[in-house]
Amino acid sequence: MPDRIQLLPDHVANQIAAGEVVQRPASVVKELLENAIDAGAKNIQLIIKDGGKTLIQVVDDGMGMSVTDARLSFERHATSKIRNADDLFHLSTKGFRGEALASIAAIAHVEMKTRPGTDELGTLLCIQGSRVTDQEVITTPVGTSVAVKNLFFNIPARRNFLKSKQVELRHITDEFHRVALAHPAIGFQYFHDGNELYNLPETNHRQRIVHLFGGKTNEKLVPVSEETQVVEISGFICKPEFAKKSRGEQFFFVNDRFIKSPYLHHAVSAAFEGLIRSDVHPGYFLYLKVDPGSIDINIHPTKTEIKFDDEQTLYAILRSSVKHSLGQFNIAPVLDFER
Ligand code: ADP
Ligand code: MG
Repeated sequence: MPDRIQLLPDHVANQIAAGEVVQRPASVVKELLENAIDAGAKNIQLIIKDGGKTLIQVVDDGMGMSVTDARLSFERHATSKIRNADDLFHLSTKGFRGEALASIAAIAHVEMKTRPGTDELGTLLCIQGSRVTDQEVITTPVGTSVAVKNLFFNIPARRNFLKSKQVELRHITDEFHRVALAHPAIGFQYFHDGNELYNLPETNHRQRIVHLFGGKTNEKLVPVSEETQVVEISGFICKPEFAKKSRGEQFFFVNDRFIKSPYLHHAVSAAFEGLIRSDVHPGYFLYLKVDPGSIDINIHPTKTEIKFDDEQTLYAILRSSVKHSLGQFNIAPVLDFER
């Protein structure tokens, strides 16, 4: 029998990888914001047009890239963040897979402008569907700007699958909230179709929550604080009377990364038992710090699900510290229960 197997060309492999990394404009927003944070940015601008369908741009004042790095950044598995498999157990960056820019450039028109602080001039790179269409030496501020246009231009099925501008914008805003909540020490501006939606100054966790969710949020928040060998917990829970039927104000951050965890959500809900009705959900903004060696972030390309070494202990600590906070602030049952 003749041999039948071939290696896929890079642009095809990138397009396949993109299918996993980029579900919608919000996925691009997440990847670009995370790159800006990993680059040490102090200020980040997010500029969106038409719900991300025509433009998604992130401008940062981070470390920028040399010409060679700018070119390499669009190669698959090209990363400055890890060097070997061991590094996976000591991650301090958001990225490490070296896939995002390659994936995005495979399915969109990308324009990158970048300059490191050490250089007088910067680089402009234009890439369309994995093909470099322009490279120039330019004047540009220190840092990096990545503009992504015409997402899914070469995958009509995906482009048609995009929802309305409002729905895509909502997903982008959700993503923005998560990143902004995780990094109060970074200033963020967010524009949509020329309107400023948020202008967030550098601040602390509490103020960042209030800036994002409105002044009334402040009185809802009860601090949570716990330090153990396994985990350090900080942040806030919302008072039981503010529990809502709809989900939306539930945030877990593990080592400054937003994660989804039905298991940990259950731990918090369990602490609220007897204080809220079973058909409503408590709000919370909880920041967990754990040893990076005790978690595995590499189980899902978008990295919103992670695996903990000792989930049960974490559950118990979380539940008891939330309970403790509720007790300390004299929060007794206030609701009439319909049993
Ligand atoms: P990863 O973040 O997993 O390393 P990416 O494809 O997102 O993979 O980025 C590839 C590389 O490009 C990064 O490792 C980083 O060195 C560089 N890079 C990307 N975005 C920026 C940025 N905004 N500022 C500086 N360097 C960047
Ligand atoms: Mg990245």
